[in-house]
Amino acid sequence: MANNIQAIRGMHDVLPEQTPLWQYTEQILREVLGCYGYSEIRLPIVEKTELFKRSIGEVTDIVEKEMYTFEDRNGDSLTLRPEGTAGCLRACLEHGLLHNQTHRLWYYGPMYRHERPQKGRYRQFIQLGVETYGMSGPDIDAELILIMDRLWKKLGIRDKVRLELNSLGTIAERLVYRETLVNYFQTHLACLDEDSLRRLKTNPLRILDTKNPAMHEVVANAPELMAYLGEDSLTHFTTLTATLDDLGISYVINPRLVRGLDYYSKTVFEWVTDELGSQGTVCAGGRYDNLIEQLGGKPNFAVGFAMGIERLLALLENSESIQLNSVVDVYMIRVGVQAEQAGFRFAETIRNELPGLKLQVNCDGGSIKSQFKKADKSGALYALILGDDEVSRGVVSIKSLRNAQDPQQTLNQAQACEFLMHAYNKG
Ligand code: ATP
Ligand code: MG
Repeated sequence: MANNIQAIRGMHDVLPEQTPLWQYTEQILREVLGCYGYSEIRLPIVEKTELFKRSIGEVTDIVEKEMYTFEDRNGDSLTLRPEGTAGCLRACLEHGLLHNQTHRLWYYGPMYRHERPQKGRYRQFIQLGVETYGMSGPDIDAELILIMDRLWKKLGIRDKVRLELNSLGTIAERLVYRETLVNYFQTHLACLDEDSLRRLKTNPLRILDTKNPAMHEVVANAPELMAYLGEDSLTHFTTLTATLDDLGISYVINPRLVRGLDYYSKTVFEWVTDELGSQGTVCAGGRYDNLIEQLGGKPNFAVGFAMGIERLLALLENSESIQLNSVVDVYMIRVGVQAEQAGFRFAETIRNELPGLKLQVNCDGGSIKSQFKKADKSGALYALILGDDEVSRGVVSIKSLRNAQDPQQTLNQAQACEFLMHAYNKG
């Protein structure tokens, strides 16, 4: 017999028992974004490879070694999106959405990176991305942080994440700093690992982002970018922190927070947890005004963030406060030929009357005992029982599956609907 084909390493199925938590989380994400007036945008999963090279930058981890790139049948180089920011901006430029307008957008879906799979790090993972365009001030930076803060609170995990903040200044400010930083590391070459020696030439700021504990000290003593910021960048940053103070949102300034991507300027932030080991960043983002021109647009403003949903769910998994929706509320047992037909009809009537109720009808027959077993396994609170005898009398029996004390009742169809309406309060 042939071997079973298995899923690709690092790409996971979400099984039915896991989907309620996903759906619950997705609903809260939508609600929170909705209450700030953000619109959804839906984007392709595949883009031209050039888009990511030009936006993310050639010397980033993503472009250097993580992209799923392939040749289309006509020879074009295409890439499965490793993130959403580039595609979202590409779409807005292409459709002329950035001309004299502001936008507050979100998207949700899979991203692809060829990384070494481990807990919290997959090759296909889901991100919520939020992007805003056309707003230059620190107030929109603060609004994004407010959204995330509200999300954590609604999901009951505010105490599990902390906000880390930094400013990367402008390109010009960063260039001056970069030189100082390179000089500093040149005098400490012996402390650098292989990756950092390479980055010293390509992307020295990324050295600050190292996860190698042996380099902790050399990085901790490195000069700080904050000291190289001009007045405009500094005011932007201090206005943002003052706004957060006023709103009561706590944060930690992390001078070594540089983010992996090249396109950020001024504000950058991450929401970090200590509960997920080294995959502790749940959400990250910042301002990336320069990317718009880099992709051929007129000078403009952009700030956004992306949240890793698998990491978020890992934080929610042990949460006791979350009440997930049941998949089945009521299970209908049908015994006998007439009962099967009448049961199907009655089930449709119930669904018309109580649209929110989840009613599953037993299919493929079986003894009443085996149908009760299935009813119990479905998670339903009540079983509706229809035999040919009930059908001829125009009634149905209702039995609680969770409380043995509740007596079984026999009601006519209208009374049964009423009973279910009260039991589920969904009328
Ligand atoms: P990391 O430092 O963990 O590699 P990153 O800087 O590459 O993260 P971003 O590109 O900023 O991540 O993506 C935003 C968020 O998406 C991350 O904070 C994380 O929650 C999630 N994320 C990124 N890569 C993965 C992955 N391979 N698997 C699961 N989630 C991921
Ligand atoms: Mg990464």
